[in-house]
Amino acid sequence: KINIFWFRRDLRLEDNTGLQHALNSGLKVIPLFILDTDILDKLEDDYDRRVDYIHQALQDIHMELRSFRTGIHIHHGRPLEVFKKLVQDLEIDTVFCNRDYEPGAIRRDQEIHDFLQCHHIKFQQYKDQVIFEKSDIVKSDFSPYTVFTPYSKKWKEKLIKTEFKTVDLTHFAEFHGSSEIISLEEIGFKKTDMQFKKPKLNKALIESYHLYRDFPAMNCTTHLGIALRFGTLSVRACVDYALKHNETWLNELIWREFFMQILYHFPKVVTGCFKEKYENIVWRNNEKEFRVWCSGNTGYPIVDAGMRELNETGFMHNRVRMITASFLTKHLLIDWRWGEAYFASKLLDYDLAANNGNWQWAAGCGCDAAPYFRIFNPYEQAKKFDKESEYIRKWLPEDEQKLPIVEHREARERALKTYKEALA
Ligand code: FAD
Repeated sequence: KINIFWFRRDLRLEDNTGLQHALNSGLKVIPLFILDTDILDKLEDDYDRRVDYIHQALQDIHMELRSFRTGIHIHHGRPLEVFKKLVQDLEIDTVFCNRDYEPGAIRRDQEIHDFLQCHHIKFQQYKDQVIFEKSDIVKSDFSPYTVFTPYSKKWKEKLIKTEFKTVDLTHFAEFHGSSEIISLEEIGFKKTDMQFKKPKLNKALIESYHLYRDFPAMNCTTHLGIALRFGTLSVRACVDYALKHNETWLNELIWREFFMQILYHFPKVVTGCFKEKYENIVWRNNEKEFRVWCSGNTGYPIVDAGMRELNETGFMHNRVRMITASFLTKHLLIDWRWGEAYFASKLLDYDLAANNGNWQWAAGCGCDAAPYFRIFNPYEQAKKFDKESEYIRKWLPEDEQKLPIVEHREARERALKTYKEALA
């Protein structure tokens, strides 16, 4: 008999909870990754840096495993079909993996669980991508928190210590295949300019995070979003570091878990407003204006610079994400779901819980969102956070600065009226 460890959004060998349990199980372990066609087929483009990132991270794991005379088994297809085949070929005792809290992933795991159960194979899942999951942090009446501050207070109170798990890599099954994993081309994708580097925690950057994080030109945030998204870095390592070096950065990691538990408890947010009354907003949804926003041509330099940064690099600074999202939903009165989908298609660090939570926050319809009448003034934001226009100049050539698509004051009044009518 043999066990399987199924890698998903935990692409690392160190401090990997499910992997450790698998390797301690007493049976040899086959490391498995599934290039899931249910996900890949939905991507619009065959040039996707995130797919390349995953591919490079897998190659990296594979090379590490080769020194233990083993290697990762990569399959391309629908998970259920892959498991149907594995069950035919192998005598599996248990499939181990780490838990995923997105509604689609929960449905997929249930399907796999049910299938394996029919074959008398165990399916064991562990908490790994968060410190606190599901209902670990709830109010005294056991209901979930929907406001960040009390949630983060309880989160900090409950945190005793972060425990690292050293994984003994000697219990893998032998592997006689090639040292190269399946190529990107074989799965219908192109090589991009993505360069996978093992993520590292930068002490100087994190120590001064609270001072500079709001100034996009300084680019002083960690850029670890993608590593946390795909688990190439352990969240326990991050939290341990944050506890030692910077409480503001710790709060950002708690925001991440806050939105994850919101998505877990309120999966309706995937398609609907957290605050239902906001469904009454009559969005203008002008398609031409949406395209102008996407391409960074609104005539608001800070907005356009942000969208161009996103389009070129797959990253956008948090302050500018807030400004561009507010502009789309308030100034242009375009449904937050359109903006959310556009960010999802572009962001390297795209994460359903964080993206959805933050978009709903910007539109005012999310949990713990700012009141709708607080509308960002893009000029004031630029003055405050990009005083010398350094960020703007970096991403937006001066000769490409346009006339504003809407006049700020008029757009503001229109947004206030529309929101007020919807919430009356
Ligand atoms: P740092 O500032 O160094 O923070 C460290 C980590 O904390 C981040 O990598 C992330 O994992 C987490 N984090 C920080 N801020 C938040 C936050 N507000 N909410 C949830 N987690 C947070 N973050 C994503 O990870 N994925 C998304 O798809 C995403 N979409 C967003 C959409 C909008 C409209 C807005 C306003 C914010 C969004 N964010 C998203 C949150 C935040 O902007 C990014 O996490 C951050 O900019 C990533 O840069 P960094 O890795 O340098 O983060």
